Amino acid sequence: MNQLEDSCPVCGMSAEIEVPPVTYNKMYFHFCSEQCRETFSAHPVIYSSRTGKARSEILKRRAIHLTTPLDSEVSALLVPYLKEMMGVKMVIVEGDTISITYDLLQVTESQIEKALGEIGLQLGGSWLEHLRRAWVDNSEEIELDNLAAPRYHRTRPQA
Ligand SMILES: [Zn+2]
Repeated sequence: MNQLEDSCPVCGMSAEIEVPPVTYNKMYFHFCSEQCRETFSAHPVIYSSRTGKARSEILKRRAIHLTTPLDSEVSALLVPYLKEMMGVKMVIVEGDTISITYDLLQVTESQIEKALGEIGLQLGGSWLEHLRRAWVDNSEEIELDNLAAPRYHRTRPQA
């Protein structure tokens, strides 16, 4: 019964054997990357039933502020680094601002922030910026939770 998925249930790319599979509903799911594995594990309901169906997108556009402006050399490295993340569609770096468009079904702002932190970039430290990020992380989480919630309350048509 344990049929092997050959494409990543999150992004549709081919799955990599090196990424450990996740078992959900008695099925094994294989992933293209650690990032997609993390995305799937957070809300498996959304992705486990999507295979074969037309894939939808939830595009988000955000501006992430850094503490210091980036020079063009760093920007030139940063853009491909972010675009390598699954679900990142567009990246524009202007001074201390990273404008980024991404598919929430594949990546969250919190994952993007984590990736920026991993290469040592300092995110904007003002309380307003902290508040904005916390709000975005929370609202994205709620949006995905709602998508994953089973719709028990839908009324059935009378027979
Ligand atoms: Zn993937």
